[in-house]
Amino acid sequence: MADAAEPVDLLVLGADLVATLDDTRREIAGGWVAATGGLVQAVGGPGDPPPPATRVLRADRCLVTPGLINTHHHMFQNLTRSYRPAVNGSLFTWLSTLYPLWAGLDDEAIYLSAWVGLAELALGGCTTSTDHLYVHPRGAGDLISASIGAAVELGMRFHPTRGSMSLSQKDGGLPPDSVVQDDDEILADSERLVARWHDRSWGAMVRIALAPCSPFSVTPRLMSATATLAERLDVRLHTHLAEDPDEDRFSAQNFGIRTIEHFENMGWMTDRSWVAHCIYPNPAEVARLGVAGVGVAHCPSSNMLIGGGGMAPVAELRAAGAPVGLGCDGSASTDHASLWLEARGALLLGRQRKGSTGMTGRDALEIATLGSAACLGRSGELGQLTVGAAADLVCWPLDGIAFAGALTDPIEAWLRCGPVAARHTVVAGVPVVSDGRLVASGVDDILRRHHSVAARLQGVAS
Ligand code: ZN
Repeated sequence: MADAAEPVDLLVLGADLVATLDDTRREIAGGWVAATGGLVQAVGGPGDPPPPATRVLRADRCLVTPGLINTHHHMFQNLTRSYRPAVNGSLFTWLSTLYPLWAGLDDEAIYLSAWVGLAELALGGCTTSTDHLYVHPRGAGDLISASIGAAVELGMRFHPTRGSMSLSQKDGGLPPDSVVQDDDEILADSERLVARWHDRSWGAMVRIALAPCSPFSVTPRLMSATATLAERLDVRLHTHLAEDPDEDRFSAQNFGIRTIEHFENMGWMTDRSWVAHCIYPNPAEVARLGVAGVGVAHCPSSNMLIGGGGMAPVAELRAAGAPVGLGCDGSASTDHASLWLEARGALLLGRQRKGSTGMTGRDALEIATLGSAACLGRSGELGQLTVGAAADLVCWPLDGIAFAGALTDPIEAWLRCGPVAARHTVVAGVPVVSDGRLVASGVDDILRRHHSVAARLQGVAS
């Protein structure tokens, strides 16, 4: 900690309200936040003199929250957004239509899609994102390292997951042969990436998790061996689970059991795991997921656009003890990547399911911050503005026409009014979005290159 007289690196000053998300959920009207060395050094109110600072960020007429955390995404899919032949198919037909396009991914494509994906997230108030990259065409290069390069350039906190597919059509799976890999090759590459990139330190900017795509695209052997490897390397586990009724039909046909039973049998029912979607657990399974502490990445827009028509039992999962975080899901199923939109989607879906007590704005904020941090195994470190936590925060402007008349509850107004994007997004005490603009340079060049790769993959003229 810096001495009181020593200037801090960053002081965020003048906010209407600071939502700390601390243990007592303190909300400080007229609050400020000070950061040094990438961590929160102090949080105070109008009666507390703020420390001197090297840099001051004004948050006038803003709600300040911890940075939102994205627990499920496939950034490569922004190269095939709203792809007409796939966009209105069921989950399985959508996937089957897009797999052949994704077979053309290479390290340039992944770098560009991660850059665009992370920049888009930062503009929407996200400070930490995961990415589930499960397509590794033969000879495509070191795709995960290419995506990390983009995160480093932008200054975003990043949790890429080593995705995989090993069960191709010829073995009864969904993906074509060209995008699947051998189990042992996947496991060896997983171990290599953890050794190269996984940072266990407090405030780490990069962590790796292991992430077979789904129980219907990898062999049972790979599911089980990945869980064992994650245990040995002490890293987290991620996959899709119970996203669509087709998945239970596949599991019944191939394994004779429900998909969550298969997940459990493979050694995944542990607090090391967080799963995307989890729309279709039955009540007994909700209880088991809760007791085990399996995290769930709730992806409202994706579920409404491409799911089988179900809604994740978010309230029940949280009540059972499962951490629930927020995810935007891939950019070919959700197409946008704004965690503000997802938080609003969680609010709307929660109330659609259970009426006025089903979800509040504060619940949605908690899911997007504390819940997501728990999914990534970073409770206490991310998702809250408390002394010693990572200095990741967002200043949300609550002014202009959309917020006129919203005078009494900035947190409810934040999701009920809008739409709103970040005025400032700060990661590890450093602005990555300032006055609504990306701090990193080169966006026009990135977008030109991205367009050219997207046109190549989609087979259209660039
Ligand atoms: Zn997904």
